Amino acid sequence: MTEMKTTGQQLGRRSWAEPWKIKMVEPLFMSTPEQRRAAMHEAGYNTFLLKSEDVYIDLLTDSGTSAMSDRQWAGMMLGDEAYAGSRNFYHLEAAVQQYYGYRYIVPTHQGRGAENLISQAAITRGQFVPGNMYFTTTRLHQELAGGIFVDVIIDEAHDPASLHPFKGNVDIGKVQSLIEREGAGNIAYISLAGTVNMAGGQPVSMANVRELRALCGQHGIRIYLDATRMVENAFFIQEREPGYADHSIAEIVKEFCGYTDGAWMSAKKDNLVNIGGWLAVNHEDVFERARNMVVVYEGLHTYGGMAGRDMEALAIGIEESMQDQHVRSRIGQVRYLGTLLEQWGIPMVKPVGGHAIFLDARAFYPHLAQSVFPGQTLAAELYLDSGVRSMERGVVSAGRDPETGDHRYPKLELTRLTIPRRVYTQSHMDVVAESVKAVYDRREETRGLRMVYEPQYLRFFQARFEPIE
Ligand SMILES: *Cc1c(COP(=O)(O)O)cnc(C)c1O
Repeated sequence: MTEMKTTGQQLGRRSWAEPWKIKMVEPLFMSTPEQRRAAMHEAGYNTFLLKSEDVYIDLLTDSGTSAMSDRQWAGMMLGDEAYAGSRNFYHLEAAVQQYYGYRYIVPTHQGRGAENLISQAAITRGQFVPGNMYFTTTRLHQELAGGIFVDVIIDEAHDPASLHPFKGNVDIGKVQSLIEREGAGNIAYISLAGTVNMAGGQPVSMANVRELRALCGQHGIRIYLDATRMVENAFFIQEREPGYADHSIAEIVKEFCGYTDGAWMSAKKDNLVNIGGWLAVNHEDVFERARNMVVVYEGLHTYGGMAGRDMEALAIGIEESMQDQHVRSRIGQVRYLGTLLEQWGIPMVKPVGGHAIFLDARAFYPHLAQSVFPGQTLAAELYLDSGVRSMERGVVSAGRDPETGDHRYPKLELTRLTIPRRVYTQSHMDVVAESVKAVYDRREETRGLRMVYEPQYLRFFQARFEPIE
């Protein structure tokens, strides 16, 4: 507890608390070490195979795990479940237009539904799609539409130790040479993400998107934004970029989106709902194509796979997600956990990003070869210690090389602690930090894991392991 106070002072400000109070509680299961050992054994030392009921603090993902507000729950009772023209759709449309500033909106069941629509609507087979690092579902949809993904993020993004303030930035030179080499006509659009999930939740600066807009404007290339965590990106601009300290989050999001031609959204993240998504664009040609396709893949263009009540909760969630004090406390909580771990010298990706702490498992267990799965081992050890659930982002997630059949050994061997929005308190963060510390203190006794079952696709979800004795 003394640490808590020290932390506030060291950051040079008064301590803060969550800007909400708790009206309804969901009891958590407080397991014993024996119960956790049995559960982990049963789950094959893979946190994806644990039952949620056996987990104490669940930091597997921030996707669809947010707590809704009383206003959102009240909105759920106002669902207009008409097949066509639900009033909740018009609320959603107005909220996206007001806060993100785009003209045309197509609702979808979640982010990947919108990715499918924009990829099919805006990519011609064989065209290049430059992006600031890939995201799993985004790239897959671009490839399914015949696009060729090209990574144009700055080199610093690939270095866990680089303290660049905007590690999500596009390397304008890389885009320029792609245009020179392939011709603007062979580029479908720029796929810009803010923040960049796979780089550790790292932001893009306003100066960078402005420069990108200028370049693309000269060549008639459109920019589409993955707006999944754009609100969190806006926080970093407000905090780090000269001239933005007195702009609100809402103003920053609106200005940033103004440099782009449209966006897709996984509303399960920033927008504070458990399910939902949308696509929004400014050009009628792309809108027409997307609206035509949505009835094939998602549902009618005024519900897109969501119930009326879900669209109402989403419209309210958009508004709440833009409130400065919400964003400050959301990222403040991630950073609070990061600061505690940093004080204890726990190795992690820096600077701490918007939605998660990425522990550097290779530096955590320097005595373990990557072939005994340090990231997976750390996730298992954390669960055994305290019931905290995290996930591996390393050699297990990277899979095998289809040519040689060997493991792919990625540079980054990480264990991700992802913080859901408005769900846990600072006390939960203390418990998590102390558990990481306890696992770190006995790191030398840890031997790693052996894989005993390996599925063919996306093996990290279902692979099974045994501890090496
Ligand atoms: C989660 C996510 C998506 C995909 O959205 P779903 O709602 O899971 O389909 C796309 N982009 C980013 C950056 C994401 O984090």
